[in-house]
Amino acid sequence: MFDLDYFLHTSQAPFYDFCVRSLLPGPSTRPTATHHFISLLESKGLLSRCYTQNIDMLERLAGVPSGLLYEVHGTLRTASCANERCRRPTDGRSLFDKLKSGGMPTCDRCGSPQKPDIVFFGEKMPRPVQEQMKLGLPDLKSCDLLLVMGTSLAVQPFASFIDAVPRSTPRVFFNVRSEGSGRRGEYEDAGGSLRESAGSWGGWRS
Ligand SMILES: [Zn+2]
Repeated sequence: MFDLDYFLHTSQAPFYDFCVRSLLPGPSTRPTATHHFISLLESKGLLSRCYTQNIDMLERLAGVPSGLLYEVHGTLRTASCANERCRRPTDGRSLFDKLKSGGMPTCDRCGSPQKPDIVFFGEKMPRPVQEQMKLGLPDLKSCDLLLVMGTSLAVQPFASFIDAVPRSTPRVFFNVRSEGSGRRGEYEDAGGSLRESAGSWGGWRS
């Protein structure tokens, strides 16, 4: 369903159905205490950057400024033509309104299907994230404390971002699963494309 080739060349229906049924945050979806905690850190001048895999915009709703936010797997806030040679942008709300009314969202320039700007498997990360990766993730190299919250570290390359911090930087892991139960591969730069991890857990330094 989240495979770009399948979406472009086979069928958009499974993804569009999933969008309407499950993906779009409902009116009762609100930022959690954790989202507000990140915003609190920013208000105290303690947040250098928030990298998130979330696509649901809740960090923004909690007040984390867009300039400090890297939505590594994209966002539902915006959408665009899925044709790589076109990529005409639109806003996410108009795409979802079209889907909810039973229509098929297509590009008004080239007729290709539109999709929210979330990263499918095999697709590149958002350009600002690619640029940070090319620079070697300088935010992480200079941070003095890394908080890792609510992730099983199963999707690359995001899972390996935690290894970009200096060895002297404490890393604190908050998750429903205990540390060490996740699986992640060694960092391999496959051009910044999203992929599932095939490797095994590397363990945490204390
Ligand atoms: Zn187009």
